[in-house]
Amino acid sequence: MMRLAGKKCNKCGRKLPHKMFKHNKKKTCKSCEYRWWRSFLRYLVQQKRLTPAERMASRVGYMGAAFLMAGQWTVEPILFILGFIFVLIQVSFRKQWNLVALQLNGLIAWTIHFIKTLA
Ligand SMILES: [Zn+2]
Repeated sequence: MMRLAGKKCNKCGRKLPHKMFKHNKKKTCKSCEYRWWRSFLRYLVQQKRLTPAERMASRVGYMGAAFLMAGQWTVEPILFILGFIFVLIQVSFRKQWNLVALQLNGLIAWTIHFIKTLA
């Protein structure tokens, strides 16, 4: 194999040396494939543009989602209650009222369930 000239990327159309492709069968060059990395950076930039309160709400939302996920595996009411409260903070901050209703409903239902387990 003496094809040292390289090949053309099917995305950017540039003629690039072989080392710019992950392997020989690749038709898209490495720099074109790194889209996810760019979108991740864009996400970070977008996070920076948020106000501290918005950023806090977003993080609390992730925490709430984690609690809800943990709750679904353990069926532990307290995890659901914490999860619903945290997600409620996020969705009310974003004024997503349908999700606020959903979280409130879950919060009330699991609180009642929790009280029943105490009795
Ligand atoms: Zn390319």
